[in-house]
Amino acid sequence: MADYDYDLYVIGAGSGGVRCARMSASYGARVAVAEERYLGGTCVNVGCVPKKLFSYGSHYPDAFEDAAGYGWNVGEHSLDWKRLIENKNREIERLNGIYRTILDNNNVTIHEARATLKDAHTVLVGGEEITADKILVATGGWPTVPDFPGKEHAITSNEAFFLEDLPERVIMVGGGYIAVEFAGILHGYGAHVTQLYRGDLFLRGFDQDLRSHLAEEMVKQGIDLRFNANIASLEKSGDRLVATLEEGSTLEADTVMYATGRAPNTRNIGLEELGVEMKKDGSIVVDDQFKSSVDNIYAIGDVIDRFQLTPVAIAEAMILSANLFNGQNLGTDYADIPTAVFSHPNIGTVGLTEEQARDKYGDVDIYRSTFKPMLHTLTGRDERTLMKLVVDKASDRVVGCHMVGPDAGEIIQGMGVALKAGATKAQFDATVGIHPTAAEEFVTMREAVSS
Ligand code: NDP
Repeated sequence: MADYDYDLYVIGAGSGGVRCARMSASYGARVAVAEERYLGGTCVNVGCVPKKLFSYGSHYPDAFEDAAGYGWNVGEHSLDWKRLIENKNREIERLNGIYRTILDNNNVTIHEARATLKDAHTVLVGGEEITADKILVATGGWPTVPDFPGKEHAITSNEAFFLEDLPERVIMVGGGYIAVEFAGILHGYGAHVTQLYRGDLFLRGFDQDLRSHLAEEMVKQGIDLRFNANIASLEKSGDRLVATLEEGSTLEADTVMYATGRAPNTRNIGLEELGVEMKKDGSIVVDDQFKSSVDNIYAIGDVIDRFQLTPVAIAEAMILSANLFNGQNLGTDYADIPTAVFSHPNIGTVGLTEEQARDKYGDVDIYRSTFKPMLHTLTGRDERTLMKLVVDKASDRVVGCHMVGPDAGEIIQGMGVALKAGATKAQFDATVGIHPTAAEEFVTMREAVSS
């Protein structure tokens, strides 16, 4: 082997890059990582972590209101948005520090600069040329905003985490994870939110019942949810933004946020010049060992066209590092990945949607239950939870498990284990419920609502 400076050079210190760097180093590899922006990547800085903190905070107004039913007289309360942002920033800085310590403790060299590839074994970073046997591209993604007149007035999730004030009126464009999460968060904090989605029903790809149930709940809360709607142009008029919708009407807002997908950060790194094969959307084509079309260049996480989810990037990093530097030959299993949308209320889901299960198995039984969460028996809040199981009739295996309701993500994580283990409906039925919880509904649904 040629004498390289490092065994592995990782470009991008996000969830996937950091995990691969530290695990590879723990197996004895000499590793360096370059990061031009912030340690921890999207998830820690402008994604999962601050989003979850915002989500917690945005539930308080409801909690203050609900407390009355439980005997509390809650006094005056008001929002100090700047304090929220400061506290959130402080927590993120703490996490940045933890990422730095993890890398330092594992003897991973950190280059805090943009890295580009001069050739397949040479990285240009901070004015230096550094050589490495293997290169990992883990540069993540970046929000995309479609082209339309006035797009420069729109913000994305990147900016939403640093808003100086809570906007009074928000137009949210998009119908994926980020749009529904931020619609709920900003509405929860007190903004008037209008969410526009270009299709008939948002959250395409999720189970139909989940999508319609969440839509109903969001409308009940007062979110102005508009389907088959989109912005044609946006104009700034003083402090206000005026959006002209495709059907011709206008809408005023203080902030217009686009959450219309994220594109891989793969441009201007030198990948095209080296002949690394990429798809039209910029994602890197890799084989089942995360190897690109160039033999020593690998890619994981949001830069490959699989799942834009932190735990998936981490799983990919674990596999890649073990295979490259620990003599293992692990494969990737993308089946039954549980996921949550931190909408209000939350969605939690694992396995196949009803539609997918019907396509795959033909004969399926559907178990469905909707109910008022126990918390709201005294609050009077009109919120309902949905729980649903999809069962393959021939094998009796539970192949889909879906929920809209408080803590759905927490509940579905355990269901993920059951599905991964191939649990049957009979085994769900044989499991004793925990009473009184919402989760027990998953083991007490006895009558199929449809077959
Ligand atoms: P998504 O791809 O999930 O959703 C994009 C949305 O924007 C879709 O509703 C899409 O509509 C719509 N859209 C796309 N292009 C246009 C356009 N030109 N005009 C109008 N609407 C458009 O992207 P997000 O930005 O929400 O999130 C990116 C990814 O990040 C997610 O897919 C997810 O994997 C990850 N994520 C995960 C979270 C979690 O685990 N809780 C939280 C946040 C993000 P259509 O459906 O019609 O294509």
